Amino acid sequence: MKICIIGAGITGLASAYKLSKLGHEVKIFESSPFSGGQASTIKINDFEIEKAYHHLFVTDKAILNLYKDLGIESELEWFNSSVATYANNKTWSTTTPIDLLTLPIIPFKERIKLSFISIRLKLINNWKKFENITAYDWLSKHVSEETFKIILEPLLRGKFGRYYKQICMPWFWAKIQSRVSSRNKKFQEILCYPKSSFSFLIKKLEDQIIQNGGVIYHKHKVTKLNIKNNQIESINFVSENKINKTENFDIVISTTPYSILSKLVTFDKKILMNMNKVEYMSAIVVILILNKPISKYYWLSIADKEFPFLGIIEHTNLIPKNRYSDSNIVYITNYVEEDNDLLKLDYNSLMKIYVPFLKKINPDFNLDNIRDFKFNKINYAQPIIPINYSSYKIPIKLPIKGLYSANTAQIYPEDRGTNYSVELGEIVTKIIQEDKNGFT
Ligand SMILES: Cc1cc2nc3c(=O)[nH]c(=O)nc-3n(C[C@H](O)[C@H](O)[C@H](O)COP(=O)(O)OP(=O)(O)OC[C@H]3O[C@@H](n4cnc5c(N)ncnc54)[C@H](O)[C@@H]3O)c2cc1C
Repeated sequence: MKICIIGAGITGLASAYKLSKLGHEVKIFESSPFSGGQASTIKINDFEIEKAYHHLFVTDKAILNLYKDLGIESELEWFNSSVATYANNKTWSTTTPIDLLTLPIIPFKERIKLSFISIRLKLINNWKKFENITAYDWLSKHVSEETFKIILEPLLRGKFGRYYKQICMPWFWAKIQSRVSSRNKKFQEILCYPKSSFSFLIKKLEDQIIQNGGVIYHKHKVTKLNIKNNQIESINFVSENKINKTENFDIVISTTPYSILSKLVTFDKKILMNMNKVEYMSAIVVILILNKPISKYYWLSIADKEFPFLGIIEHTNLIPKNRYSDSNIVYITNYVEEDNDLLKLDYNSLMKIYVPFLKKINPDFNLDNIRDFKFNKINYAQPIIPINYSSYKIPIKLPIKGLYSANTAQIYPEDRGTNYSVELGEIVTKIIQEDKNGFT
């Protein structure tokens, strides 16, 4: 089969790898000049680092197996993580259960309750019973108003902006599953980060795809899918040198969000309506290369609704900084609605807003400590998954013959992540193989 894959993110690369291995003729069309999409990296000095912080959990079996399958398992390294929450004007360690039980900002009874809620959610396998309730409603019913307002509400609001009351409970359930499962016997959270960043996996996938006869075109934007008799016939694309071209394919796999896919081809009303229901948060990520750390934690969540950002992820509090010329690499992360004014700001304007708040966390924080910076805005960073999502979630196999969609909004109930992109790649491959063999 001749297969076009739109997008060279992890889903596109994983699908291309699997399909090319099975002997299909695969071509990836990627509009940007690089592969990796949201997991792509940039070079700073002599090291590569993700444009947005990335790590893997113990539960991320599909991607961990892909490393094995590619023979690059030695890339995987595990580190003790450290977690904290900024609330009530102070940073509190929330790394261990003891930290949680001694957290003075909420009453003792509530700390016990929070610990029990985590254990209870971890033990529940049937997430479907949470389908018709939002995380906001469920959590606010299970903790006191004070605890909800101090810790949980600011975290939900920080991540989902104006959508924070709509997020379904299965999303929260899945978060607890991965975070609790990533704790070892001593209840220490351990996280995986590849020795040479995610760039090594991306490069290896590219090499394997090419070795299997596949082709990867960068700076090639797909602009239209041509359908004949309700079947994929060809794609239109704009090539690197701005020339409009058409190429015939048997199959197209789109890894783009629905809002892009729905402009490439005409869908019937019902599918289009469901596609339009899927909204996203964008991410604004500032990477600071600093002389000094900001905190001693890897993951600092901000539970203070006055703050203009959601979290500080100090990469070099997870990975030894001698790998980065002794620099401290810090991500300041923010999720905002697609129409949020913060998205219009440049680095300097944004930092003017951020710095007073960075000083609240560490009074010694100073612009002079910044050796270098990178600034990234990421569209479609986080799908908003509301209640009863199963009832209108769009299938991978679309009602146009030969057209398949594999994107982050299909990952449910788990939160999107590279692991699930790899899994999507495997699922779409399986469906295509079954269709090819006439099983369906
Ligand atoms: C801030 C942030 C932090 C994250 N942290 C983690 C983490 O710690 N661990 C983890 O596992 N995951 C993390 N993720 C999630 C993970 O990066 C994504 O879920 C995953 O990379 C998505 O891959 P994808 O291929 O589905 O989509 P994308 O990476 O979005 O790839 C889609 C590709 O399609 C291309 N494209 C779009 N339209 C066209 C067109 N018309 N023609 C050609 N090409 C097109 C785009 O340029 C893009 O490269 C994080 C994401 C963000 C934003």
